[in-house]
Amino acid sequence: MSVATKGGLDDAVLEELAQVLGSEHLLTTKPARMHRARVPAPFPVHRWADHVPDAVVLPASTEEVAEIVRIANRFGVPVVPRSGGTGLTDGAVPLRHGILLDLKRLDQIHEIDLEDRTCTVGAGVNMLKLNEVLGRHGLIYPDDPASYPCSMVGGRIGTSGWSLIGSRYGHTRDLVLSFVHVLPTGEVVRIGDGGGRKISKSSTGYTLKPLFMGHQGTLGVATEATLKLYPKPEAELSPFWSFEDYDTAHRALREIVRTDCATFAGAVLFDHEKVAYLRRDDEAYIPQPESVRALVCAVLYGNEDEVLAGGRRIMRVARENGARYLGDEISEGDWAARHDRYATPLHGRTKDGQVVPMSWHCEDASTVWSQLPAVRRKWHEIVADLRRRSDVFDDWGMFAYTNGRTGVDYLTEIDVGIWEQELDDETWAMWIKAKRDIAQVAVDHGGSISACHGACREGEVDVVPIELGGAYDVMKQIKRTLDPNNVMNPGKYGLDGAFEEDLK
Ligand SMILES: Cc1cc2nc3c(=O)[nH]c(=O)nc-3n(C[C@H](O)[C@H](O)[C@H](O)COP(=O)(O)OP(=O)(O)OC[C@H]3O[C@@H](n4cnc5c(N)ncnc54)[C@H](O)[C@@H]3O)c2cc1C
Repeated sequence: MSVATKGGLDDAVLEELAQVLGSEHLLTTKPARMHRARVPAPFPVHRWADHVPDAVVLPASTEEVAEIVRIANRFGVPVVPRSGGTGLTDGAVPLRHGILLDLKRLDQIHEIDLEDRTCTVGAGVNMLKLNEVLGRHGLIYPDDPASYPCSMVGGRIGTSGWSLIGSRYGHTRDLVLSFVHVLPTGEVVRIGDGGGRKISKSSTGYTLKPLFMGHQGTLGVATEATLKLYPKPEAELSPFWSFEDYDTAHRALREIVRTDCATFAGAVLFDHEKVAYLRRDDEAYIPQPESVRALVCAVLYGNEDEVLAGGRRIMRVARENGARYLGDEISEGDWAARHDRYATPLHGRTKDGQVVPMSWHCEDASTVWSQLPAVRRKWHEIVADLRRRSDVFDDWGMFAYTNGRTGVDYLTEIDVGIWEQELDDETWAMWIKAKRDIAQVAVDHGGSISACHGACREGEVDVVPIELGGAYDVMKQIKRTLDPNNVMNPGKYGLDGAFEEDLK
């Protein structure tokens, strides 16, 4: 079984890695290693050194990835895949040091199949770059996270991410048809329905694709993926409405979604606290009159005639349910900002109103429409309690995205500002407990801890066995079977427990 390397790999491991990669793609300098320990929602800075990898490797092919994993498996050294490094649940953080597998050189577009409308790409390609090329053929790969310009296809598979326009096109799991996957012991297999490269539905054999998506690198590494393509939409409409209170917006959202317009691609609901956060600082990117207490933004994509007809209907339904249209400029501006709104400097406020630099921590959950108000209320209570006890925390509000045209389930997220520089062990412990409580609220309301980010961070990870029940034991059995030496991203999802039981 793999163990933490506690600062350093054997020379024998480094020599074998260098033979596979050439020394220029094996990095051991401190900056190269420190850089790959960085994640968007950091743990306290004073703990960074605990999670710096011993070596970084930059493979350029499936064969090289497979060789690296074989070496790691033979020597019992942890290996952690990292694509864009934008994951929000510490998935790509090397908790036990070891080898950091940086996948950005797997960035080739291998094939664009215009006949069957698919493309096959390396796992290190990102959606923005891919769509620049596909656009020349009038096509689009519509996986559209807010991290669209910086996350990569491999990381999207590793997290089974959420697309903001998933109501129309589906999410990563629907859009990835199949992929080449390196198992934890180094064997290479193709995963997909019927093992097919381009088939999206088969009933031959076990349906393995979901198992190898969203595992956060604990079950191996995707190196190449075949993706579904769509015609580039002719038209886009993003009406943006304000409401006098959250409850009216929540009810209206259901009616908007239930119009069942085929071109409806998604909708987002911002609550009072989110609107207040957006408004109160100079960086606010949505200029809002004070009367705005909650916001709903829908978006439609497709053929122009269908989008216009759908838009008229949605506008009417929204108005009938208490919505006030905020005008084309705000609507288009906000929707266009969906990929870069996070790039603004993040400021929070202490209790006495002082503006301080804070980092963004988001806790996402999956919940049904009817439970959103209760989840929202309890989440804000948890953050209010943190805020009462320390200036380190700020409530940045909540939003919810629809999952489908039925409007049944939602990605919902509460954003918390944390003044990282002032965090100490005591406030960190408060935050970990709050994360656990936030996750528990989602589960108590019939939801899931996470709709897209995963749940392997400290705090929330404790609730995973509660959410999954007996299925968590199955998860551990699968881990033990596929990764007998626990080399793939050890320490994540509490899966080390699978091996401790083995020793009893
Ligand atoms: C500003 C911002 C906005 C975001 N918005 C969204 C959003 O709208 N929707 C959403 O779903 N997420 C969002 N996220 C979270 C993040 O972008 C996603 O989780 C994304 O899927 C991670 O991709 P990545 O390439 O950065 O992967 P990484 O962060 O590098 O890795 C994520 C996980 O997958 C594993 N992994 C990486 N590559 C592979 C591979 N090739 N094979 C197997 N496992 C692998 C890693 O070990 C890790 O556990 C956002 C993040 C940021 C910073």
